[in-house]
Amino acid sequence: MTIKVSKEPSGLGQIEKCFLCSEPTRYWNLITNYPVCTDCAKTRKTWELTLTIQNINTAIKKATGLDSDLHKFFGIYYWGGKAASLFDEQCIHMTSLNYPTTKWNLDRWVEDFTYRIEQTEKEHGKTIQELITDSEKPHKPNVVIDISGRIF
Ligand SMILES: [Zn+2]
Repeated sequence: MTIKVSKEPSGLGQIEKCFLCSEPTRYWNLITNYPVCTDCAKTRKTWELTLTIQNINTAIKKATGLDSDLHKFFGIYYWGGKAASLFDEQCIHMTSLNYPTTKWNLDRWVEDFTYRIEQTEKEHGKTIQELITDSEKPHKPNVVIDISGRIF
């Protein structure tokens, strides 16, 4: 088992949702005090239970191969890096990583970034990698001056 979980005592009423996959579960990781289902306990890692900027960026790198450069600016979270520079909006309108206050677990953060990638690809009809490559090409000069000095 990759994440250590324990079954909650029987007789507890409400069934909680797994922090990682949102499936109902009676199992908990006692260190973080998050519900974690036995499937996730087998396949996921303990670091995925701690929401930090670094862990979110790591999870996104693993899921998409891209640098998400999540950062906080004047108290609000933003996506950064080459991919996010192509998004319509970088702002996440979140002031905290604190789960369950935010209702955003790790997968929800990854999903937000992935969704913005998909929207950007749809809008431009190209993959994000193609768009990043395009954005790195040197721009052609749009003013041409011929030898006589006339500007076109
Ligand atoms: Zn789960």
